[in-house]
Amino acid sequence: MGRLRKLGALARHWLLPQVCAHCREDLPPEAQAPLCDRCRGGLRLCEPPYCLRCAEPVGGGKALCRSCSGRPFACRLVRAAFLYRGPVPGLVHAFKYRGRRAAARAAGRWMACLLPRFPELAGHDSLVPVPLHPRRLEERGYNQAGLLADELSRMAGPPVLELLRRARPTRPQWDLDRQSRLRNLAGAFLASPQARGRSVLLIDDVCTSGASLEECGRALHRAGALRVSAYVLARQTL
Ligand SMILES: [Zn+2]
Ligand SMILES: [Zn+2]
Repeated sequence: MGRLRKLGALARHWLLPQVCAHCREDLPPEAQAPLCDRCRGGLRLCEPPYCLRCAEPVGGGKALCRSCSGRPFACRLVRAAFLYRGPVPGLVHAFKYRGRRAAARAAGRWMACLLPRFPELAGHDSLVPVPLHPRRLEERGYNQAGLLADELSRMAGPPVLELLRRARPTRPQWDLDRQSRLRNLAGAFLASPQARGRSVLLIDDVCTSGASLEECGRALHRAGALRVSAYVLARQTL
């Protein structure tokens, strides 16, 4: 049986050789991970000191970054497994634009292994992936945040509930400044009435400014959620 499985892996590799998502070197046929060993070693954990709310690195012993101090948030905490550096952009690109679902599943397993580092994320009763707009979902065939959430749920956590949907399409956030980002996203998400009374952990691949997570948090609170936090694969630092 073991030999058969190995033959299957070899055949798949021969038909569809897998390459490292970062350096593009061939991966061994039995590889389970989307990165080669060397690139895996280049993953950088998102570690303190960082803003206690949004995980943006901060210096000088400050508890909160400038944009988080002095105001309340609908998404009260953001935590990230890795920094968006080194092999991470290639990994994200592989599951976002090259159809490598297995890369998203592996990333979800890494997120699950690193979750115990964040006791402040314990006690949520549901994992809610940040939704894609239906048109994007149709193009891609899957929501990468959903794949991350599925693996996380299977290994470490509460059930996945799809409590959010996109009310309308939005422009990509990366080509907008902060004010336009907020305008671009205002009212972009709708939450199901099933969110009432829930304690939700939002799941996404990358957190850039945190504006989408905050907008998701607002929609969930409008629907009666008690508590909303977020756990993402990678934190982009500005
Ligand atoms: Zn590599
Ligand atoms: Zn912050």
